Amino acid sequence: MSTLIKESLNEELKRFFGFDNFKGKQEQIIQNLLEGNDTFVIMPTGGGKSLCYQLPALMMTGTAIIVSPLIALMKNQVDAIRNYSSDEKIAHFLNSSLNKSDANRVKQDVKTGQTKLLYVAPESLTKQENIDFLKSIKISLVAVDEAHCISEWGHDFRPEYRRIKEMVNSISQKIPLIALTATATPKVQSDIQKNLGMNDAKVFKDSFNRSNLYYGIQPKTNVAKEIIKFIKSNPNKSGIVYCLSRKKVEEIAELLQVNGIKALPYHAGMDANTRAANQDKFLMEDVDVIVATIAFGMGIDKPDVRFVIHHDIPKSIESYYQETGRAGRDGGEGVCLTFYRYKDIEKLEKFLSGKPINEQEIGRQLLLEMISYAETSSCRRQFILKYFGEEYNQENCSQNCDNCKYPREQFEAKEQVLVLLNVILELNNKFKTKYIINYLLGKFTTGIESYGHQKNDSFGVGKEHDDKFWSAIIRQCWVAGFIQKEIENYGILKLTKKGKKFIESPYSFELAKDREYPDADDESIVTNVRSSDVSTDENLFKMLKDLTKNIAKEKGLPPYVIFQEPSLHDMATQYPICSEELTNIVGVGQGKAAKFGKPFLELIKKYVEDNNIERPLDMVVKSVVNKSGQKVFIIQCIDRKMPLEDIGKAKGLQLGEVITQLENIVESGTKVNLEYYLNDLLDPDYQQEIIDYFLESETDCVQEAIEEFGADTYSEEEIRLVRIKFLSEFAN
Ligand code: ADP
Ligand code: MG
Ligand code: ZN
Repeated sequence: MSTLIKESLNEELKRFFGFDNFKGKQEQIIQNLLEGNDTFVIMPTGGGKSLCYQLPALMMTGTAIIVSPLIALMKNQVDAIRNYSSDEKIAHFLNSSLNKSDANRVKQDVKTGQTKLLYVAPESLTKQENIDFLKSIKISLVAVDEAHCISEWGHDFRPEYRRIKEMVNSISQKIPLIALTATATPKVQSDIQKNLGMNDAKVFKDSFNRSNLYYGIQPKTNVAKEIIKFIKSNPNKSGIVYCLSRKKVEEIAELLQVNGIKALPYHAGMDANTRAANQDKFLMEDVDVIVATIAFGMGIDKPDVRFVIHHDIPKSIESYYQETGRAGRDGGEGVCLTFYRYKDIEKLEKFLSGKPINEQEIGRQLLLEMISYAETSSCRRQFILKYFGEEYNQENCSQNCDNCKYPREQFEAKEQVLVLLNVILELNNKFKTKYIINYLLGKFTTGIESYGHQKNDSFGVGKEHDDKFWSAIIRQCWVAGFIQKEIENYGILKLTKKGKKFIESPYSFELAKDREYPDADDESIVTNVRSSDVSTDENLFKMLKDLTKNIAKEKGLPPYVIFQEPSLHDMATQYPICSEELTNIVGVGQGKAAKFGKPFLELIKKYVEDNNIERPLDMVVKSVVNKSGQKVFIIQCIDRKMPLEDIGKAKGLQLGEVITQLENIVESGTKVNLEYYLNDLLDPDYQQEIIDYFLESETDCVQEAIEEFGADTYSEEEIRLVRIKFLSEFAN
């Protein structure tokens, strides 16, 4: 990538979103898209997928179409992007919730080119009038968010998603396409690419490792009590409790309330108003905990959810990963706790029995993986990553899952592994787990008899153990890479090279005994994992957080739309007291600083004074130096009240160039005081006239001002300098 483009991408990122660096592969992804190539992004929840199409959409000519599955999700995303901008029209959505005149207004804004991002529901794409409209405008790119909805093997299949490509093609053949998802096993990935006709797309797969999340599974005894205890030991933190049934949701929510926890229920059976109100209260942090069915969460981008508890085991690892992924999106603490008993699996299997055969088959296989995960004794993180087709080269995850934190007792299982691998080989790598286990146990099933396998010598060779034992061995061999499960025929067990090697020259292989939970009361409950930032001023942080809440309430916005927790942490570490310093806070761009900064700066300033805080001195200097030495020099000269001409001479700049630098300085949020120079140049009354003009005017465009006053009234320099004064006084 040329350094020029690289620099300007970084600048755009900083300018619009206030971020200093790209996250993960964002930069390469955006680059690839800007070059007009189809792009496929697999990045975990919280990885920053939105920005991969938002930034290019803002930079390219035309309007980007973003296909997104849920109306709630759309509104959220549109609100979020609008809050980075001063122009409401920059983003819109088009879906069935709009009436005719709203929809027409949206279309109007798109036509005038003001709208850079248009979120569209897949079903709206199937309407001819919308297609006709989209044909008539310039489209920069098409983004398919939550692209796993395309695949039946994904966790949220939506038939309308399968028609997206057809619709896009009917609009135009040449629009670059970007598909994004957080969960894609290799199988789902290939489904998506095939369906969207983007087999040649460049694939960007981020690590699925969410290193800040703690994964734990507990046996399901005294579950309500355990949940209450956990939440009580994590006061004031935001969290989600997922339950399988609506009834359970109601019951647990009530129980939490009785126990003095600020909690509310959420499920699809509630009336829409109450449901929306409860969701809002959670987003606005009026309640700490939402107890919900999985109906809750798709549209929720709350970045500071500190725990996700599964009262019941989810029906697939995809769902589990997606739901737990809602914790710690800001990179801070995120505890994921699941309560598991085998009986719940049987319940889920029963649900499946009402579905079409092929769906049942898929559902069962997904469930089997879920059991394996729940029962594994090895690192959960490693398991999840493996599931999503990723190698994890560490033995354990530094205490960030229960199995690494409280390892189980091991025993030597070399012999049993050999037995298993030999059986798989003997049966020609053709059978699934259940069959292999029945064979090992010597069960006469119709399947086994139809193959005549009961006649083999090794039939029943594993009798002295039970099915639980063998399924544990199979899981561990799978995790160890001795066997693989075929993706296309989900579940057929095959020996790998590594497995064959093991048969040739076996070595010690340790397996874990089940964990004993003597008293579920003790430390097997996670109370507090990794507090995110040690140097944060906790008092100030709390005050900033409260302020965020209050302002949010006033504006009717969720608090994180104002400032997110990482930004607040950074403020409570760096103590910014002026706008320029504020833009150096992580996640604060000029838009945000201007829009929401003032009360925060006031609060911090007062706090610093009241408590005699010594601020990290380098902040001010650092921020300016970073930008450029020349600007620092100019600011210093102006502090010393040097005439601008002299400043120019010292740096070899024309007066106009010095003014340009000054414009950059004020436009990035720094105040400069030019009174000493301006007052020599122009009578204060005239200055006021120009300032009044800018106060009234729709834009601060210099050219327009010159035209307004007539070419002979003021010189261009005069207008530009007064504009600098104006911006310093009113915008910074
Ligand atoms: P995803 O869609 O992948 O789940 P989002 O796009 O919602 O994730 O982003 C998750 C969080 O990461 C948001 O709070 C967003 O503001 C933040 N984020 C995105 N890109 C960056 C970046 N380059 N630097 C810092 N934070 C970022
Ligand atoms: Mg997203
Ligand atoms: Zn681990």
